[in-house]
Amino acid sequence: MKVYKTVKGLQNHIAKLKKSKKRIGYVPTLGALHDGHMSLIHKSNEQCDITVCSIFVNPTQFNEKSDLSKYPRTFDADSKLLKENNCDVLFFPDVKQIYPKDVDTRVKIDFGKLDSVMEGAHRPGHFDGVAQVVKRLLDIVKPHELVMGQKDFQQVAIIRHMLSALKMKTKLVIGPTVREDHGLAMSSRNERLSKKLRQEAAIINKTLLWVKDNVKKYDVPTLEKKAIKKMNLPKFKPEYFEIADGITLQPIKTIGRKKYVVACTAVWAGKVRLIDNCVLIDKL
Ligand code: AMP
Repeated sequence: MKVYKTVKGLQNHIAKLKKSKKRIGYVPTLGALHDGHMSLIHKSNEQCDITVCSIFVNPTQFNEKSDLSKYPRTFDADSKLLKENNCDVLFFPDVKQIYPKDVDTRVKIDFGKLDSVMEGAHRPGHFDGVAQVVKRLLDIVKPHELVMGQKDFQQVAIIRHMLSALKMKTKLVIGPTVREDHGLAMSSRNERLSKKLRQEAAIINKTLLWVKDNVKKYDVPTLEKKAIKKMNLPKFKPEYFEIADGITLQPIKTIGRKKYVVACTAVWAGKVRLIDNCVLIDKL
C-alpha cells in the first residue's frame, strides 16, 4: 500500500494509474477505522482496479470543538487494517494540504431542504463542512467511484445532490451498515462508550427494527413517540427519531403509498452522540 501525505504526491501516482486505464474507487474517512469502513474498501476492491482511502479529520464538519479534539486518531492501526484489507493507496493529508490559503474550497450550492432536517437541524454547518471536504477530496483524487456508507443516510443524500448539482462524473456507490454482534451500528465513536453503555446501545437498532416490524400497525406520529419512549433509558437521550421520505428526507405524517421511507435517529449515550437509520419501505 502506498501512503501519500501531499496532494502532489497522490496526484502524480493517480495520473500514472489513470494512464494505464485503471478504474479508481475512493473511500473517504475520518480514520479510527473499523469493519464498517473495511466493507467499503471491499466494495471498492470488487468494483474497481485500485482502491484509494483517505484519512482526514475534517475540522470544518465538526460543529463542536470538543468533538473534534476528542475524535480518535489511530493512524498506525488504521494503516495496518487497510493493508490487510488490500487497500492500494492511503492519502493522509494535513489541514494545509486540504485547505491551502490560496484555494477557495467552499461549496456554494443550495441543498434545498435536504440539510435543514435531522442532522442538519441539530448540527448547524455540519453538511456545509461535509460537502466542502468531499468536493475538495474528489477534486484531488478524481475517482471513478465514490464509496460511502448508508450508516450516514443524510450525508449520502447531500453528496448525491452535490454530485448532480455540480455535474460531477464520479459514480456514487452505497454500502450497507455494518453492525456489532448485538446490532449497534459500528462507529468510531463507539470506542468512547463504556462496555455497559456499548451493550445497552443495542436498543437503538432494536427500536429501528421494531418500527420496521410495526410500520403497518401504527400511524407515523405514534411510531415516533413509541420509538423515543423505548430509547429513553437511564443515560440515553434520544435527540430525534424521524420517519421521513427516503429521497427528500422531509418528515412524513403518513406512509400511504410512499415507495421509499426511512427512519433516522440520533441518540446521546452518556456523552457520546450516536446516529443510525433503517429503511422501512423500499419499493423503488
Ligand atoms: P467516517 O469515518 O465516520 O466519516 O466514515 C467514513 C465512511 O464510512 C462514511 O461513508 C460512512 O458512512 C461509512 N461508515 C461508517 N460507519 C459505517 C458502518 N458501520 N457500516 C458501513 N459504513 C460505515
